[in-house]
Amino acid sequence: MVNHPSPAAQLSLRLPTSLKRLADLAYNYWWCWHHEAVSLFVMIDPVEWGRCSHNPIILLQQVSPDRLTQLTCDPQYMKRFAQVLAQFDQYMTGQDTWVNQSLSGVSDKLSSQHPIAYFCAEFGIHESLPVYSGGLGILAGDHLKSASDLGIPMVGIGLLYRQGYFRQRLNREGWQEDYYVDAPFERMALSPVTNSAGQPLTIAVQVRTRQVQAQIWQVQVGRTRLFLLDTDIDGNDPIDRWLTGHLYGGNQETRIAQEILLGIGGVRALEALGIEPAIYHLNEGHAAFCLLEVCRQTMQKTGQAFYDVEKSVRERCVFTTHTPVPAGHDVFSADLIDSFFANYWEALKLTREQFLSLGARRLGDPWEPFGMTVLALRLCRNANGVSRLHGEVSRKMWNVMYPDRSEDNVPIGYITNGVHMSSWIAPLFADLFDGYLGPNWQDHMHDPKLWEQVDQIPDQEIWQRHQILKARLVAHTRSKVRAAREGRGEDWSLVNATNHLLDPSILTIGFARRFSPYKRGDLLLRDTEKALEIFSSTDRPIQIIFSGKAHPADEEGKRIIQRLMEWCRQSDLRDRVAFIEDYDMYTARKLVHGVDVWLNNPRRPLEASGTSGQKVCVNGGLNCSVLDGWWCEGYQADAQGRGLNGWAIGEDAHTSDQALQDKIDSEALYYLLQQEILPLYYDQDANGVPHNWVKMMKASIKTNCPAFNTHRMLIDYVNQMYVPHSLAKVELSLAKV
Ligand SMILES: *Cc1c(COP(=O)(O)O)cnc(C)c1O
Repeated sequence: MVNHPSPAAQLSLRLPTSLKRLADLAYNYWWCWHHEAVSLFVMIDPVEWGRCSHNPIILLQQVSPDRLTQLTCDPQYMKRFAQVLAQFDQYMTGQDTWVNQSLSGVSDKLSSQHPIAYFCAEFGIHESLPVYSGGLGILAGDHLKSASDLGIPMVGIGLLYRQGYFRQRLNREGWQEDYYVDAPFERMALSPVTNSAGQPLTIAVQVRTRQVQAQIWQVQVGRTRLFLLDTDIDGNDPIDRWLTGHLYGGNQETRIAQEILLGIGGVRALEALGIEPAIYHLNEGHAAFCLLEVCRQTMQKTGQAFYDVEKSVRERCVFTTHTPVPAGHDVFSADLIDSFFANYWEALKLTREQFLSLGARRLGDPWEPFGMTVLALRLCRNANGVSRLHGEVSRKMWNVMYPDRSEDNVPIGYITNGVHMSSWIAPLFADLFDGYLGPNWQDHMHDPKLWEQVDQIPDQEIWQRHQILKARLVAHTRSKVRAAREGRGEDWSLVNATNHLLDPSILTIGFARRFSPYKRGDLLLRDTEKALEIFSSTDRPIQIIFSGKAHPADEEGKRIIQRLMEWCRQSDLRDRVAFIEDYDMYTARKLVHGVDVWLNNPRRPLEASGTSGQKVCVNGGLNCSVLDGWWCEGYQADAQGRGLNGWAIGEDAHTSDQALQDKIDSEALYYLLQQEILPLYYDQDANGVPHNWVKMMKASIKTNCPAFNTHRMLIDYVNQMYVPHSLAKVELSLAKV
């Protein structure tokens, strides 16, 4: 049997000898958080780079041989290429990692043969790999990137969706239309995993009466490997080929089948790959069936019964819950479980009742549906929420499972989310920090002392860079809005109006996230008159950019978007309000790089953590947010209750009257805008530098960046979740990488 060359080797065939290793870079997402590596691709063809969704594989497959030859003769380019390659090789082979320095005691338990297996239904690594929908996926992507940076042995397990998450288009009525686009797997940074005979490695799971085969693809994320399962292969029933068609699409039956593939298939994939995880980390309940398969596998190996292996399995499994809303947790009816698992509980030598009991909140309650969070809480050693407040809410919510414990003693802790700073910082700001914090600041970003040095950056310098990024955001917004208006055949005057949409000198607010009703995307419009007064002011003008999708089934979310679109068209607001369609990681980056203020006004306590506001901090943006999720821990005020590093909107009225709470919060928001935010922003010196504003930017950077990054988060996970209790607790130094 002939071994097919890897996709990277194939791609390199069309590159000149001295540029062949561009293919290695293109097939490792390491490039996307190293700005010099990104620039290597941009320089090949800046226009084409934009057109191909910043996908270097497509770029390199299309670039003309002439252009490549030209580059080989460009000493600047070749020098940069050599530098990036050296940095890449050093990164991939270097032994001087945080793990090797700080965790030597456990590194034999946790190794590349025995990594942490991180299961998630979605991964947001980069916009060119569209297998994410929002916060959960981006968090998972950032988790893998930080694990790679810190040298923590980890592999990711997920699904490869042919059409990913739905795409958003707004019609002339401002109504969201959903559509799907095929992802070109052969033109993405994916390599099929092959067996020793050079054939694609596959695994099988049983879905009802059928055996469904899934191919395993590999995505390289720095040192971390991400394995994605794909059922769209020859030999599968046509229906099963669509099993991995859509992320969070379909009905309950699709959902349970996908979760069987992710959980049970994921464990089988690891086995087929020869990987024996030290720890299984279930990021959200979708993958919880994995626990059953680990039990089955262990029973097979040891010959023991389910209740004998359960304890040792629990030692190896940890779980993170993400949803403070009961309805947000997956549950399946007993009927559905019957039709999918009748064979499976036999393999576990359990009765139907015993099996159903694993997913019932109250043991032995036959009326309970089968809950994935319940299953995960039952069979995992540790569980955590994603912010301090979310930990509390989760303990309360799941107290019912632990009738003999008080709420405080429900075994769910918390680890507050963070973001992978290197992925979310603008190159212009990274460069500024290189100068003032030292060139290796990205290796020490969880060290508060490091960030004290931002005080040394002259106000003028930080402000200038921020203004440039804001101007780029304005340009991005104009081009997206223009394309959307042209696309729906709007009147030419409306198309041309995009030429004066937004103005970089004006205070700019960003609001981008899923349009779920609880996030209250239109809270600002609650009092239309007041909103008009603020937004049509010529004296201290203000502008806002919205972006985000509503779930296809969420009519109320779609109505909120429609209201915002109406607002965008109102003649006196036209230049001050914009909506960017089809929110993705690229638009997210543009927004967090360029906004002055990031607005977040969910109904408390429904935002488990939120991460978008953390992405703003490292770029000097300020948060104006309801005290929910991470902001409860980030926000700092002075003795008079005035924000030092951002603003807190309203207060919790502890009422179930939503209209009342909306009124309180919107009025607080209007007050903050008029009395604090606008005056602070427009208090500028002769050069247009708002010194007090810049002071707050610096305070936000100093206080938020060391805490809300995924390096700190991963270290917390290692310390609290990954290092098995049977091992001596390792003293972890925070400042050392
Ligand atoms: C960060 C991010 C999110 C999460 O935003 P929240 O405000 O935390 O919900 C969602 N989508 C994209 C594209 C992001 O980059």
